[in-house]
Amino acid sequence: MKVLVPVKRVVDYNVKVRVKSDSSGVDIANVKMSMNPFDEIAVEEAMRLKEGGKATEVIAVSCGVTQCQETLRTAMAIGADRAILVETDADLQPLAVAKLLKAVAEKEQPQLIILGKQAIDDDCNQTGQMLAALLGWPQATFASKLTVDGDKATVTREVDGGLETISLTLPAIVTTDLRLNEPRYVTLPNIMKAKKKTLDVIQPDALGVDVTPRLKTLKVSEPAKRSAGTMVPDVATLVAKLKNEAKVI
Ligand code: AMP
Repeated sequence: MKVLVPVKRVVDYNVKVRVKSDSSGVDIANVKMSMNPFDEIAVEEAMRLKEGGKATEVIAVSCGVTQCQETLRTAMAIGADRAILVETDADLQPLAVAKLLKAVAEKEQPQLIILGKQAIDDDCNQTGQMLAALLGWPQATFASKLTVDGDKATVTREVDGGLETISLTLPAIVTTDLRLNEPRYVTLPNIMKAKKKTLDVIQPDALGVDVTPRLKTLKVSEPAKRSAGTMVPDVATLVAKLKNEAKVI
């Protein structure tokens, strides 16, 4: 079974991003970029399937600028066997990524595609769902447990009220939630090994996909600053303030 793992290069989760002065977006010049954390979980899960004898090959794929090669090398250092970069400088929105991934999936014929539930830069939470729709495959989003047996996958999903367990027929799409696993640390020998693994670069045109954005960002702004709190002497004052000032009770 081949497993395809889409990995996105995003601003590192430790970086506090700043909104550009013209409100057109956030400033990502000279900031640390890393693999989207949910995608690290996806690569780790694919590796566990391989180590458990369920997967035969793990292929990492990224869509974006040349530097996404670094993200793909990280995926291969975790253990992915090879990687594909769909290289473009275009501003890629989830629908365009889903179309590119569909084209890659049609070429590679994986039985399972494991994506992150969301990218921490755009917070879209759309790509996996769109890809499932475009391919016409079943999907299990927000997975906190995944087992594969023959042509069936069993996925436990984190839903509002608790956990839901569903069965899917492969080929299928799974998106990872935080508690699916704890990704391993990348070791130096594995970073060195990853440098020798195959990384193919293709262009969106070669896949016949138009990546023109469909949405226009009108404005990006900082969240409102929290005003300082006040100490109240007793519960009666708190209740009075909630009633008369905040008017919430
Ligand atoms: P999103 O829908 O943007 O929140 O992203 C959800 C997931 O789709 C990510 O965790 C990745 O697995 C995948 N994804 C999104 N954008 C890309 C990209 N440019 N390249 C590869 N995978 C991506």
